[in-house]
Amino acid sequence: MNALFRPRWLAAIGALLALGGAALYMGSAHANPKPQSQSLMLPSGEQPTTMESFLTSVTKDVDAYWTKQFKDSGLKEPRVSYQWIPDGQSASSACGGAGADAAAYCRADDTIYISESFATNIFDGSLDQQLPGSSQGFGGTYGDFAVAYIVAHEYGHEVQDELGLYDKYGDQLPTMAFELQADCFAGNWANNANQEGRLEDGDVQEALSAALAVGDFDDASPEHHGTPEQREAAWNAGFESGDPQTCDQFLTT
Ligand SMILES: [Zn+2]
Repeated sequence: MNALFRPRWLAAIGALLALGGAALYMGSAHANPKPQSQSLMLPSGEQPTTMESFLTSVTKDVDAYWTKQFKDSGLKEPRVSYQWIPDGQSASSACGGAGADAAAYCRADDTIYISESFATNIFDGSLDQQLPGSSQGFGGTYGDFAVAYIVAHEYGHEVQDELGLYDKYGDQLPTMAFELQADCFAGNWANNANQEGRLEDGDVQEALSAALAVGDFDDASPEHHGTPEQREAAWNAGFESGDPQTCDQFLTT
């Protein structure tokens, strides 16, 4: 079934790129050879044809994973809303405006906001010169699993909210603790998709490379999210263990 599904998914991603206007440069825009993985197989058999539907599909996939984790722990299922911001538009969230560069979880309205153009630029690597890590030579973003990493990271913040971690530790811990834990949670989900045989060669590398790319060096800032190496290590810790409890290690000062 997966073998039948795969080529259609590849075709769908091609359509997605075309919508972003980047199809012509696929695979040739970068001097360095990059993994050719373009496929995350969704258990539902959905075939996203746009970035909007891709973001929704991945969110549902991540949501299904956490719903099971919560259920297995006797917790009630996580509830979160999401809003994808179309090209050229913006959204007003309870946390402020969300525009073309938005990728955020807003606790105040319990909603994940992701700009479709931002996601497309992550997908095709066109943001690499602007991201703190990749602009300094750390990693880079490309491929569907880089986008999936972003989605799963934002969902990780929703998990933190559901677990009451902001209320419990928000005053004591720096932003970075929550960011690295969210990366680790994103790795947990990827572990599960891998266990189910739904990752392809290159997907893990895409996530690790994206985690490096978004890392920053601004460790004097309260907004410091973690260095490239720290973010890569956090995602990998979650991926290697497949156990959300492993991610508790990041809730330290
Ligand atoms: Zn975050």
